[in-house]
Amino acid sequence: MSITFAQLGVPDSIVGALAHRGITEPFEIQAATLADALAGRDVCGRAPTGSGKTLAFGIPLIVGFERAQPKRPRALVLAPTRELAEQIHAELATFSGPVRIGVVYGGVGYGPQLDSLRKGVDVLVACPGRLEDLIEQGAVSLADVGQVVLDEADRMADMGFIPAVRRLLDQTADDRQTLLFSATLDGDVAVITKQYQRDPVRHEVGLETPDITEATHVFWKVTKPDRVEATAQAISAVRPAIVFCRTRHGSDKVAKQLGRLGVKAAAIHGGRSQSQRTRALDSFSRGSVQVMVATDVAARGIHVDGVAAVIHYDPPEDHKTYVHRSGRTARAGNSGVVISLLQPEQVSEAKRLQRQLGLNEPFTRPEIESLRDLAPTLADAPPRKPARKRANERSSTSERRDSSEPRKKARRKARKRDTHANQRANGERSSEAVPSKSEQNGASISGENARARRRARRAHLQTSANN
Ligand code: ADP
Ligand code: MG
Repeated sequence: MSITFAQLGVPDSIVGALAHRGITEPFEIQAATLADALAGRDVCGRAPTGSGKTLAFGIPLIVGFERAQPKRPRALVLAPTRELAEQIHAELATFSGPVRIGVVYGGVGYGPQLDSLRKGVDVLVACPGRLEDLIEQGAVSLADVGQVVLDEADRMADMGFIPAVRRLLDQTADDRQTLLFSATLDGDVAVITKQYQRDPVRHEVGLETPDITEATHVFWKVTKPDRVEATAQAISAVRPAIVFCRTRHGSDKVAKQLGRLGVKAAAIHGGRSQSQRTRALDSFSRGSVQVMVATDVAARGIHVDGVAAVIHYDPPEDHKTYVHRSGRTARAGNSGVVISLLQPEQVSEAKRLQRQLGLNEPFTRPEIESLRDLAPTLADAPPRKPARKRANERSSTSERRDSSEPRKKARRKARKRDTHANQRANGERSSEAVPSKSEQNGASISGENARARRRARRAHLQTSANN
């Protein structure tokens, strides 16, 4: 039998709280690091996404808890993104008992953060930028911090936070315990380990790169205008899904285009406000949105369980990014599908990527049926409703009927504007030449073609009649 949390030195109250959530056996990184971390040693842990690093450092923080003075936390967790900070906070809160956990990050008002710091926070979860800002304002001091966690240290390095991390570490107590977790331990992370950790116990779990072989990888050749349609169809077979785009603008656009094809999608990227990002993540976790369209930076450290598919809508920058993106699915023993959409001129680069990753997959046209076979649990899901007609394709009668509601009208107008702008920006047109599934269902993705419009109108009427 494998080792238990209790045998690793985790107190009964926490063992109980975890068991309540169905967490009964430590994951490998937890089994490897908990005893040392609980004994007060510095730990340098490498483990892939989804391996359970949060509990590996979270349990020692809660167990080692000391009551803090106002504005003077005793433990600090540094995380690269707001989303990750929130997730850590939420995870710790499930077993923290009387320990007061605070969280601070940018992009939101200062009021609540200042209030909680004034009242006293024992464990502070923070993004480096806002934390430095609050220190400057005199709202918090790190002088009493005796335990520090650097979570996703490699991401913090990627995002340029290392200078800030150093400045922050320099303000904590000299005899602090420092726990560092990262998916990779080279480069800047190695330097931080060397300079800021004292005789750390090093635990490395899994392969150097996350084990992406747990997922099924498919590579589809599509033309640029067909990408949205291919994405929508893939999602109809496997969902929930995370779609990766290169730019913020691209993410917004793809989310809107998917919406027009009847796929509920939310965009998440650095250009959206914190409340928009939180809302998007919430709807995705709850399942009211099937797809999250994200940029690489925004997706860092986001952990959502049960993601069935990752779609590389734009190719990743390099094989490392491919691994990180793809690691959002097939987590914790679940299966998952990773789909790369490749325009003809991107295929040779993708072949190189495959070689770097040790993959050897064929490049095919989109194969929706075989996707369905890969997603047996979803095969029984009710068929998706045909995509709704686009706003600018409504018949004049329905237009008149609807226009009794001014807000709807304004929304429609805005959508229409977006559509035209998108088409202009992208030169995107329909994939009329290839009859697609949504066309069979009656949805047109052409704004121009009268035949398609008539077909769409018929389908719309049918849908309305069915509802
Ligand atoms: P990482 O930070 O390594 O990417 P997380 O700490 O976010 O991974 O954990 C991934 C998921 O696994 C979370 O949903 C978490 O609640 C769950 N989890 C962590 N440890 C265990 C465990 N021992 N047993 C079952 N589930 C766990
Ligand atoms: Mg994590």
